Amino acid sequence: MQRKQVKIVVCLFLLLTFMVIRWENKTETELMVYNVASKVIVIDPGHGGIDTGATRGNIIEKDITLKMSQKLASELAAAGAAVIMTRSSDTDLVEDNFKGSYRERHRKGLSKRVEKANQTGADLFVSIHTNADPNPRWSGAQTFYHQQSEESKKAAEAIQSEIKRLLKNTKRDALAGDYFVMNNTEMPAVLVEVGFISNYKEGKLLTDEEYQKKMAHAICSGIVKYFASESGVNEKAKR
Ligand SMILES: [Zn+2]
Repeated sequence: MQRKQVKIVVCLFLLLTFMVIRWENKTETELMVYNVASKVIVIDPGHGGIDTGATRGNIIEKDITLKMSQKLASELAAAGAAVIMTRSSDTDLVEDNFKGSYRERHRKGLSKRVEKANQTGADLFVSIHTNADPNPRWSGAQTFYHQQSEESKKAAEAIQSEIKRLLKNTKRDALAGDYFVMNNTEMPAVLVEVGFISNYKEGKLLTDEEYQKKMAHAICSGIVKYFASESGVNEKAKR
């Protein structure tokens, strides 16, 4: 073959390979998203209103959790899930004229989130938070699950493994956690600490739109994989 012909053959080969790879990826994703199509998922953006959550300078937990949750909600909705947010604005869910201590107000806000989730009869509850530690060296997202729930554990492991696979910036494993919202919701429940705002690099990343999208995508992918592994089970997942 002449040089020119070789070039054409190589180009055609590359084009074909590219098309096959694209087709395979598309098929896998499309098949997987069917598993969330009929699911009801509650997303709980941590904190809100006077409850800012952790802060470092102008990096504020309640803002990050809301933005990340909104991105996660649109991705899940696009895959066909029915998504309910415990809050979609800057509020702690407690009425303005509440007359109690800050502590009581905080507890009331958490109870309202639980109440809202339990009313929906959802298949999964996902709370979004950011982590903070006095020591700025710690970084990495970590997913927690209800300690006595096998289903919660499976969901948390699927989410954590997708965060590891897609973001490649944590070696942390899913862990059992003792959180009010997970302990009191009636469906499988997980809480994702999407990273440490106390870490200089990660804190900055968490406010970045593109990074928020990537994290939301990883969480969504984990949720899709969790439901895919459950697809043989017809009965609603029970704790
Ligand atoms: Zn928090």
